[in-house]
Amino acid sequence: MLGLMQYEQMMISDFIVHAARHHARAEVVSRLAEGIHRQTYRDTELRARKLAQALGRLDVKPGDRVATLAWNTYRHLELYFAISGSAAVVNTVNPRLAPEDIAYILGHAEDHVLFAEVEFAPLVADVAGRLPAGVLRTVVFLCAGHAVPRVALPGGIDVMAYDALVDAEDGDYAWPRFDERSASALCYTSGTTGRPKGVLYTHRSTTLKAMAMNAADAAGLRAVDRLMPAVPMFHVNAWSLPYAATIAGTALVMPGRFLDGASLYRLIEDERVTFACGVPSVWLGVLAHVRKTGARFSTLQRMAVGGSACPESMFDAYDALGVTIMHAWGMTESSPVATVSNPIAGVDPATARRQRLSQGRALFGVDLRATRGSTEVSWDGETSGDIELRGHWIATGYYQLPSGTTPDGWFPTGDVGMFDASGFVLLTDRSKDLIKSGGEWISSIDLENIAMGHPAVAEAAVIAAKHPKWDERPLLIVALKPGASATREELLAIYEGKVARWAVPDDVVFVEELPHGATGKLLKTALRARYGDHLVRGKTAGASSAEPPPSIGAEDVDDEAPRRRPT
Ligand code: AMP
Repeated sequence: MLGLMQYEQMMISDFIVHAARHHARAEVVSRLAEGIHRQTYRDTELRARKLAQALGRLDVKPGDRVATLAWNTYRHLELYFAISGSAAVVNTVNPRLAPEDIAYILGHAEDHVLFAEVEFAPLVADVAGRLPAGVLRTVVFLCAGHAVPRVALPGGIDVMAYDALVDAEDGDYAWPRFDERSASALCYTSGTTGRPKGVLYTHRSTTLKAMAMNAADAAGLRAVDRLMPAVPMFHVNAWSLPYAATIAGTALVMPGRFLDGASLYRLIEDERVTFACGVPSVWLGVLAHVRKTGARFSTLQRMAVGGSACPESMFDAYDALGVTIMHAWGMTESSPVATVSNPIAGVDPATARRQRLSQGRALFGVDLRATRGSTEVSWDGETSGDIELRGHWIATGYYQLPSGTTPDGWFPTGDVGMFDASGFVLLTDRSKDLIKSGGEWISSIDLENIAMGHPAVAEAAVIAAKHPKWDERPLLIVALKPGASATREELLAIYEGKVARWAVPDDVVFVEELPHGATGKLLKTALRARYGDHLVRGKTAGASSAEPPPSIGAEDVDDEAPRRRPT
């Protein structure tokens, strides 16, 4: 048919090209160990282009996966655009995972090139030593040439400095155009089996998602905003915020590894942040700082909170500080934002409050349903079901694994919830038994298996116990073998070196026998009902609130080393 609209492939490189052309002077501010770093979107696009040239020199080909172990900084932003923009796939890896899991991810994704922060040098050495020969060819440290750390890597792995790599290029590079359904980013999430599984985003899914994020009732970013993503770029592409910001020309204020309440508050004030996003425990840290010091926000207006349910008290506390919280829900498999909560007109105050505290309504581009068996439950605000998703930025399954959707094309989220008549979704439960501590998943199955390795343990269950700071912490419940004995300390000690420090259970409860269902499976629901409040009720051993959080609150990974769980 003649006279139709133009057609163009949706390319992630277009975001940064647009920002460089139309919002050239908008800032990217990064908090680094050496101080505040500033550059513009125009600088960022040029450096990303040079980096794309350099990737070619490192023999990175279209479709190759390239790993990052990095904080939110301008360098990570450049990597996002250079890797995806040159048709390779950016595999953002969570540095707080156990080295064994990181090695699994790098091996599974076959990442030949790894970009890592200097402080992760010991981690990189550990991980490299666990990889089959030939997987990793090059490690690029995110620093200037003189700052490359000494690191003992297996033979054949080149070590380079990021800035030298970028500076060696002239920027004479044209962003390629290719099929918009090509993979752009790969992000691993912990599945119920405990093995991370990869979710593979495309240029098209990312573009549509980023544009949807900029709807007024979603993130609604504007060129006058200054956005602080406190959600890490190593997890679900920081909720697509780096992409949405470049489309809107919004200044980005990157906190780097400084995620404690005092540092975030300082950055918000110093850099005149208007909009900030992150998991509830990050904002609890900021709130604690503000309460302790009596400080006030002079520019912050809005916050998007998600990743775990935002507590009701937090909405009120930030309201009182003049900051409006917007609740968002999603998961790695949904890129991640699927719903956002915003008020609607014409409802009574009680309904308005319930809707505001809910996980919100679907963004245009995704659809939701809740099912019981094969029947879709009605949107009556009472009946809950298993929530399923369908849409432009919803995964079909996992990298290198068969499709995970239902026969009619819906993705089962593992979350359980209900809808009200206006389409607001309220999550009631999580069908998975994973523990979500400070925004990070901890697999209960992994922890149970380790406990079962102790000779005195007959049976072990690990549940998510409510925690005032990290939302949830693992609680180990054990039945000992008849006549056997073991102390709390002995049981907790067996986790040392087997899991990341923050994944070690907070406490141990000893029981005669664990409850079982009709098919012989552990009845975790009963355990949660009985012991879910164990850590908030006050108990014998310290609630370990001094323990560093998984991904937030602690300033960096090295910082965790000297800390010890109270025993
Ligand atoms: P992840 O894939 O690590 O981002 O985790 C996704 C899971 O976090 C979801 O399936 C939910 O169980 C949980 N989650 C995310 N956002 C919220 C929210 N706003 N309220 C309650 N749970 C949430």
